[in-house]
Amino acid sequence: MDHFNYKDGELYAEDLPIAKIAAEVGTPFYCYSTATLERHYKVFSEAFDGVNALVCYAVKANSNLAVIKTLARLGAGADVVSEGELRRALQAGIPASKIVFSGVGKRPWEMELALEVGIHQFNVESEPEVKVLSNVASRMGKIAKIAFRVNPDVDAKTHAKISTGKAENKFGVPWQDVSRIYGDAAKLPGIEIQGVDVHIGSQLMDLDPFNNAFLRVRELVMLLRSEGHNITQVDLGGGLGIPYDGTMPPTPTSYGAVAINAMGNLGVQLIFEPGRLIVGNAGVLVSEVIYVKQGAERKFVILDAAMNDLIRPAMYDGYHHIDTIKEPSADAVFEPMDVVGPVCETGDTFAKARDLPLLEASDLVAFRSAGAYGAVMASTYNTRPLVPEVLVNGDQYAVIRKRPSLEEILDLDTVPTWLDNE
Ligand SMILES: *Cc1c(COP(=O)(O)O)cnc(C)c1O
Repeated sequence: MDHFNYKDGELYAEDLPIAKIAAEVGTPFYCYSTATLERHYKVFSEAFDGVNALVCYAVKANSNLAVIKTLARLGAGADVVSEGELRRALQAGIPASKIVFSGVGKRPWEMELALEVGIHQFNVESEPEVKVLSNVASRMGKIAKIAFRVNPDVDAKTHAKISTGKAENKFGVPWQDVSRIYGDAAKLPGIEIQGVDVHIGSQLMDLDPFNNAFLRVRELVMLLRSEGHNITQVDLGGGLGIPYDGTMPPTPTSYGAVAINAMGNLGVQLIFEPGRLIVGNAGVLVSEVIYVKQGAERKFVILDAAMNDLIRPAMYDGYHHIDTIKEPSADAVFEPMDVVGPVCETGDTFAKARDLPLLEASDLVAFRSAGAYGAVMASTYNTRPLVPEVLVNGDQYAVIRKRPSLEEILDLDTVPTWLDNE
């Protein structure tokens, strides 16, 4: 459920007409709903009521400070994958004791900051990484609390670009080496083993892969304990899907039941890293129609948003429902149209043959479910300014990231002096 609904013939974000925000901020822009963010966080965390669980929001899904802070105020922890995200989480008020640090390529200076502030756990993804972490921690006189991310070799049955738990993927340590790797790491100075971590992919629409992975992790915890390791933390990652095209994913409650069934009596703290599930349906990308063009075979709607603003369709074949801001009348005629952006790439296509009501220049549309992996993946390709972000709360809104000016973008470049003369 979200808080983007038609009222009096136009699309609202909570109590505000989106057209009003568009008139003031300009298009394209991302629009997030506080009530939806809060609701999703609560529904997820309530699936673990009475369970020793830590919900670490995966910051990479949407790392705006205002979004993180909205979740921090509800008690969320954070899963971060870079020093930049760690700084965002801390600045948004998430205590270090609720932060886990994931990612296959952590650098020594990133580890240093995480050790300095005392994060809850490093999710270590390789043997070379644990050696570097051991060196950094020893030099600082600190102890790094770690889990190894293990690769359970299960098929998450999701898009290849967001599947992470197969043996062929770059993530985690190989299943058959886990026992030896834990044994070796236990001997390293500055390292304290406390857990096991797994994350098999994103936008999962089926509980079976989770169940398979979690049951394997359960066996692993028992094996590692029998080998003398003190396992108190099990991080089950993120990845639960959201309904982009109307297909319903499993509910957080049924997902929680699978996790609790697998881990229930192990006496560990469970960690979860939901990203998309929290922010995906809490955001829309609002865009204006520039032209409607009749091609040789198809009709094209050319928008002022493009693949550089929302790359999911180009990168993951992602589907986004498109709503017109004006509510279509009961007798509106729909016709199939290709919805595209102005970027000079054929891949700059949001939808093909999508049935939409008749549109004309300056009409507004909203891409639904754009709150996750939207703004964070935006670029300035074609020298298009990064798309601004707006947060709505009831009948008020704030610009939480402004649109950079073209001057600011051009100022980032430097022309070397040898090109100056003549
Ligand atoms: C991306 C990622 C997540 C979040 O995944 P969602 O599908 O957005 O829930 C969680 N943990 C790790 C390690 C990730 O890489």
